[in-house]
Amino acid sequence: MTTEQLYQIFESHPVVTTDSRDCPEGSIFFALKGASFNGNKFAAVALQQGCAFAVVDEPEYCAQGDERYILVDDVLRAFQLLARHHRRTLGTRIVGITGTNGKTTTKELMAAVLGEKYNVLYTLGNFNNDIGVPKTLLRLKPEHQVAVVEMGASHPGDIKALVELVEPDLALITNVGMAHLQGFGSFEGVVKTKGELYDFMRQSKRGKVFVDANNPHLMGIVQGLDLVKYGTPASDGLFVGGKVVSAAPFLRFAWQREGGEWNEVQTHLVGAYNVLNMLAAISVGLYLGVSADEANRALANYVPSNNRSQLEETAHNKLIMDAYNANPTSMSVALNNLNDMEVPHKMAILGDMLELGAASAEAHQAIVDQLSRLSLDEVWLVGPEFARTRCAFRKFNDVDEVIAQLQNQCPEGRYILVKGSHGIRLDKLSQCL
Ligand code: ATP
Ligand code: MG
Repeated sequence: MTTEQLYQIFESHPVVTTDSRDCPEGSIFFALKGASFNGNKFAAVALQQGCAFAVVDEPEYCAQGDERYILVDDVLRAFQLLARHHRRTLGTRIVGITGTNGKTTTKELMAAVLGEKYNVLYTLGNFNNDIGVPKTLLRLKPEHQVAVVEMGASHPGDIKALVELVEPDLALITNVGMAHLQGFGSFEGVVKTKGELYDFMRQSKRGKVFVDANNPHLMGIVQGLDLVKYGTPASDGLFVGGKVVSAAPFLRFAWQREGGEWNEVQTHLVGAYNVLNMLAAISVGLYLGVSADEANRALANYVPSNNRSQLEETAHNKLIMDAYNANPTSMSVALNNLNDMEVPHKMAILGDMLELGAASAEAHQAIVDQLSRLSLDEVWLVGPEFARTRCAFRKFNDVDEVIAQLQNQCPEGRYILVKGSHGIRLDKLSQCL
């Protein structure tokens, strides 16, 4: 089967699935493979469950003479090429986002801002990899006026591969920081990989690149790009600039279009770093014709979910649940943010930052060194990497040890930052704090 034939089938069957437990009537099943599963084995089930076609890449799973099976060389590649074909056919204006931290938050904020004026499609949750990105593109419908697509990376070349599917018209790298060093090899590897988005924009001459003008790592690699600059504080030459007004604990911030009036917005977000995420969203919004009032309304109404920049109030404490991911950059920013918050009784429960490879020991030591310079009331460290650091903070081997301690005695009346890599499972603590 050629890719052209697959494109034709998609025209009359425009819904795809990769899960044999979720097979909409008339959809196309793509038999993807993972480390521990082979979708080919589920092709027959998918057809029974209502799929009209099953795309497979192992001939032994094709029933002889059954034209509902579509045999290709590589199912994932066919899925990706179909997604790109569909994206090209519709020609929707797409904003592509990558970066070390803040991609999902920025994507959601931007979708909210753009949603005031346009019918927007955006990445669901964190579907930002080689499967999630094509999935997002295949959800595009003619009625969508703009799409916001998040792209994630853990190895060199990841962004290049994704951006060549997305072919964004507008592009944004939120920031570059230390994460996934195991895969990238070094910080330079991170910068280079994120820079693959810029490389694409440069080569394709497609459109604007939105950049935090105060980020030296990004500004060092923007030569030859058509830039729209944003940043904090507001200054000459910035399309949009802004600053924190207060963080008690929810962020109130002010922003200004170059030379224009100041706007003030009370948000439901915690974390001063979110000012940059909001400025990015405002910049793209204004650039695409959203008014300042519309942007303000969208940001004021936005309520975060999924353990990102969220404040949870329990019977005993107020929790900043940031237990979804952690790397040295986001950990450091989150700690400064807690330290700067205008609230009493501050505590941090921090889990190991995973996937740092050879840089791990030094990175964890740097965090405890930073902690000793801050004025938090109490710090608990969870996991073997923090356990090896030199410091006097209280240490726990794993989250279950913390839970046992909390069942014995729970802190009261505190603002508690809970942050660590997902693998440490600090999310379990929200029920016991
Ligand atoms: P992932 O790699 O998991 O997709 P992401 O880039 O989508 O992550 P978010 O999920 O938006 O990032 O945010 C994750 C965490 O990163 C936040 O909870 C916060 O601690 C931190 N963070 C968010 N925005 C920034 C920023 N602009 N600068 C630094 N840290 C940030
Ligand atoms: Mg994300």
